[in-house]
Amino acid sequence: MSSSETEIINQFFKRPNRNSPFTALGIGDDAALLQVPADYELATSIDTLIAGVHFPIDTAAFDIGFKALAVSVSDIAAMGAEPTSALLALTMPQQETAWLQRLSEGLFALAQQFGVDLVGGDLTRGPLSLTTVVSGLVPAGQALRRSGAKAGDRLWVTGTLGDAAWALQQHLVQQVTPEPYLLSRLNQPTPRVTAGIALRGVATSAMDISDGLMLDLSRLCQQSGVAARVWVDRLPLSSALRQAAPLERAVLSALTGGDDYELLFTLPATASLPVGIEATCIGEIVAGHGVVAYDAKGDPITLERHGYDHFKNL
Ligand code: ADP
Ligand code: MG
Repeated sequence: MSSSETEIINQFFKRPNRNSPFTALGIGDDAALLQVPADYELATSIDTLIAGVHFPIDTAAFDIGFKALAVSVSDIAAMGAEPTSALLALTMPQQETAWLQRLSEGLFALAQQFGVDLVGGDLTRGPLSLTTVVSGLVPAGQALRRSGAKAGDRLWVTGTLGDAAWALQQHLVQQVTPEPYLLSRLNQPTPRVTAGIALRGVATSAMDISDGLMLDLSRLCQQSGVAARVWVDRLPLSSALRQAAPLERAVLSALTGGDDYELLFTLPATASLPVGIEATCIGEIVAGHGVVAYDAKGDPITLERHGYDHFKNL
């Protein structure tokens, strides 16, 4: 490794202070050492963000760093685990100090907020992309899976849907500056860690929505061997989205737009929502297979696509 690689790591990514008590050894050796307390399991997940695919090329460096970690922390949240550590594989075309400084600030802003240590990574030269691995702890046997939804369960979602996808299409397609709140939903998603933890032992299934509600819900249903009905008039839409978009477009954004990073989960019909979680009941699980959205009159809605898939229609 050249000295400038070491310098970049030391200057921008190595921080002495620890956020997590479960980091035994962080950046600097051949591998990090993570503690896993007895009776806990380590949840671990990886995500790649590619410039021009997962974020517009003109995205601010702070937001790129923030989002790269947020999307992986969101996966850990969706398991009902508590995030503890992260790895970052960064590929970038050149070395630019101010850009790296802001990127690392965004990354550590998210890391500190959720008690995550950056314990290692990799640095290579090439087209801009960031791959993050995040690990977290969950009491053994209590992780939330996609596979436990049962016919009769109610379908719930945290937060609001469609904000990020609307901001993205405003930016890329309409080429107008999105309303600031909607843009922040695209660039700085909030992983629902507290909600995931509160859902342990209550939710029958859970996942995070990254590729669009309908597509991700179909994945959950497939793994659970059930079908789902979504009630479109119950979808949680932010007031910012309602103001920015005609209702029909806002609904479409909520149903099929990506980048929400909200938790989708099922609860038995008799169970109540754990206190402190902001979530909305948007539908129900039924026997069978497939996912259908119904309008206020109870008629099924036909959708051209259900969400974002990298390999479909290639
Ligand atoms: P190796 O060549 O043995 O795989 P490196 O020389 O690439 O290791 O990295 C040295 C140390 O710096 C390792 O602990 C590695 O995890 C860490 N590291 C490398 N790149 C990054 C990065 N982008 N962010 C955080 N830590 C990094
Ligand atoms: Mg090594």
